[in-house]
Amino acid sequence: MSKRDYYEILGVSKNANDDEIKKAYRKLAIKYHPDKNPDDKTAEDKFKEAAEAYEVLSNSEKRQRYNQFGHAGVGGASGGGAGGFGGMNMDDIFSQFGDIFGGGGSFGGFGGGRSGGRRVVRGSNLRVKVKLNLSEVAKGVEKKIKVNKFVSCGTCSGSGSKTGNLETCKICHGSGVQTRTQQTFLGAMQTQTTCGGCNGEGKTVKDKCNTCHGDGIVRAEEIVSINIPAGVAEGMQLSVGGKGNAAPRGGINGDLLVLIEEEEHLELKRDGSNLFYDSYVNFADAALGTSIEIPTVDSKVKIKIEPGTQSGKVLRLKGKGLPDVNSYGVGDLLININVWTPQALSNEEKKALESFKTSKNFTPNPNRKEKGFFDRMKEYFE
Ligand SMILES: [Zn+2]
Ligand SMILES: [Zn+2]
Repeated sequence: MSKRDYYEILGVSKNANDDEIKKAYRKLAIKYHPDKNPDDKTAEDKFKEAAEAYEVLSNSEKRQRYNQFGHAGVGGASGGGAGGFGGMNMDDIFSQFGDIFGGGGSFGGFGGGRSGGRRVVRGSNLRVKVKLNLSEVAKGVEKKIKVNKFVSCGTCSGSGSKTGNLETCKICHGSGVQTRTQQTFLGAMQTQTTCGGCNGEGKTVKDKCNTCHGDGIVRAEEIVSINIPAGVAEGMQLSVGGKGNAAPRGGINGDLLVLIEEEEHLELKRDGSNLFYDSYVNFADAALGTSIEIPTVDSKVKIKIEPGTQSGKVLRLKGKGLPDVNSYGVGDLLININVWTPQALSNEEKKALESFKTSKNFTPNPNRKEKGFFDRMKEYFE
């Protein structure tokens, strides 16, 4: 089988410098990386072909021989053993050129977390939104939510294999990594790369399961029950451990992230754990005194309006707000009293009011004892 020209493979000119060659190879290696092209034989061949071309062209002595004698000039020059040229396997490529992918020998952008060598495969997190009304926020609630996600395959119990047969990876012997020692000007440096044979899992699947095609996971709907604590607020995110997507072949499940949304209450407004209510009383009631009904989160309470109550007076109902999500007490319900000024009057009413105009009692008192707007605000925020 005749080999393609190495410069052609990398897509560089005969005069390309080392940097250009390295960049061209890096591009191809990322494009045809087995992590990105699982079970793709063509990609694997291209990946190997590029590595072979790079091995020769990145070495000035080999490159010179190749320029002079073509493939014959470098045949069998790649370190002997059973490998030889054209026999470069994935193991060789990762251990020799792993650093092409970025610092430290690890494949930036590929694979996943790693724990003590063998890669721990983790399912991805799932996100759901949950809308709560104020009463649910006040008491806390258990919500059952239908989630479409990856679950462990029932046919193969998540192993990915028909027979439950997993083989220790022949390349890394189960460690999931390949270690190589490199001589640098700082001395010998060891770097580890993810094993390309098993994707870092240490095991490969024999007799792939027909249901999940070897993945060990399938799509399914699951009802997840979520306990939402009292006092949560719009925009908060809860994490339910292990309720996200299952991981391929028995890894760790991802988490279910629950984003809280709040249904707006028609009458009560919320600020942290305090609630606010705007109450309107008519002018006669404010002057004579009365009692009014105020809505709370899930009932109503009666409060007394003292005779002579001014518009803007704030009443505070201690403990009638919402619980703090960190369980430090309960907030208050603050009631702002607005005195309703009539906007339409009959002639009779007009006449009656006219007669009060000159009354001393109807003249605003500059020496009033009530707190002004500023003092009320200060009181609330301190
Ligand atoms: Zn392996
Ligand atoms: Zn299966």
